[in-house]
Amino acid sequence: MPSGGSNPSPSTNLNSISWPLCFLEKHLKIVFMVPTVRFAPSPTGQLHIGGVRTALFNYAFAKKFKGSFLLRIEDTDKARSKDKYTEQILESLSWLGLEFDDEPLKQSSRFDRYKEVINHLIDTGNAYRCFASNEELEHIRQQSGSYLYPRIWRDRSKEEVDAKLLNKDEHTIRMRIPVEGDISFKDLVYGKINTKFSELDDFIIARSDGSPTYNLTVVVDDNDMNISHVIRGEDHISNTPKQMLIYMALGWTIPKFGHLPMILGSDGKRLSKRHGAKGTSEYKDLGYLPDTLINYLALLGWNPGNNDEIFDFNYLQENFSLDKVNKKSAVFDTTKLEWVSSQNIFKISSAKLVDIVSEFDPTWCSEGNSLDYLVNVIDLIKDRIKTLSDIKENSFYFFNHPIEYDESAMKKCWGENTKDILNSFQGELSNLNDWNSSNIDESINKCVNVINVGKGKLMQPLRIALTGALIGPSIPDLMNLLGKETCLIRIKNILKNS
Ligand code: GLU
Repeated sequence: MPSGGSNPSPSTNLNSISWPLCFLEKHLKIVFMVPTVRFAPSPTGQLHIGGVRTALFNYAFAKKFKGSFLLRIEDTDKARSKDKYTEQILESLSWLGLEFDDEPLKQSSRFDRYKEVINHLIDTGNAYRCFASNEELEHIRQQSGSYLYPRIWRDRSKEEVDAKLLNKDEHTIRMRIPVEGDISFKDLVYGKINTKFSELDDFIIARSDGSPTYNLTVVVDDNDMNISHVIRGEDHISNTPKQMLIYMALGWTIPKFGHLPMILGSDGKRLSKRHGAKGTSEYKDLGYLPDTLINYLALLGWNPGNNDEIFDFNYLQENFSLDKVNKKSAVFDTTKLEWVSSQNIFKISSAKLVDIVSEFDPTWCSEGNSLDYLVNVIDLIKDRIKTLSDIKENSFYFFNHPIEYDESAMKKCWGENTKDILNSFQGELSNLNDWNSSNIDESINKCVNVINVGKGKLMQPLRIALTGALIGPSIPDLMNLLGKETCLIRIKNILKNS
């Protein structure tokens, strides 16, 4: 155990609460087991699928136990962090409904606090200055074949260190960790994880330019934000023992840790753009609903314990538990995402979908159609659409005559007698006075019986005439909605143009 952890410096005042109150709040929450969790993205790019799932599981965990969900922007990497990404992250979280409690904490505003803790660690002997140059360390590495720091500055005399300091020599600051023994924690997903100190080295907590490293900042912030449970990606498991050593050195309460399995692409490699994965806002633009992304991402690594894969956000919040998180990595599957999306869209009433799609893309329909007409359109296509964008693509013919006919469909079903069949059906329709689906259906049957052809010989060209292609809703229902005049025009058009 590192020594000197008995004199922690007081927590910085984060939320205008004086530190004894912070302390009290933290301990009351622990007694009543109310969790405080955080999502800590680095604003170096769009919020990606893995990040959203981490945020979602943190959020669901907090809500399940009536706790708090905080946001921390990890923007210490000045070169790569951009305000525009922070904005995008905030927008994406808000679109998904992952509202955080309290103001987000920005690491870039906390350098003084990190410095204070680093100095405290040096003063208490838990950290030390290392003046070894990169070249020197590289040389030692080559000789020993080990990447672990050889501890060459760990036990230097005060005089030697002071002389270097006086000379303003560049140096890093490293944790003085135990040499023998091991450290373990009970991961909330993976169970007990044990690490031998011989596998770790005296890791750097401040770089030669004085900037704190991730392991230091994360501990200081998680402590100061009173985080009770750290839920994050599995790629951080190896950081956890190091962070625990910092907590111990400072005498701070160590939070509980839960690591989430990776999300992989179909080739078993870590999910990336290469696999078709997109940033959150791109999914929004493609016409996925927030509920869909939440539903699908919840299924990526979490099992509700029954066969019902379609559920809403409330269900997730009520039923989420970390012990139902799979230990195995999850594979991102766009086809499954589309299926979840189609199921979620199908659940929504057609009237509400009209509102949703009109907000998503006001140009999906032509002007002047009644709300009733739009609701009926959605009713007819709802079972075939995967995303909101599909609605526009699949409903064009409800607002416009087809401008062209699908070539392969025409090849497939336009025969020698097609014109005669359509002509005779046109005659049948002209005489139909009571325009409704069942009378239209009757006319279709009557026509094919009179001229003695299979039903498909009429239905397929008729569908092309009405929609331009071979797929679409039930023909009688479609014709009923389009109206007699429109149907007759479209049949006339195809007869003229083919
Ligand atoms: N900023 C880190 C990341 O994006 C999060 C680290 C953590 O959750 O501890 O991976």
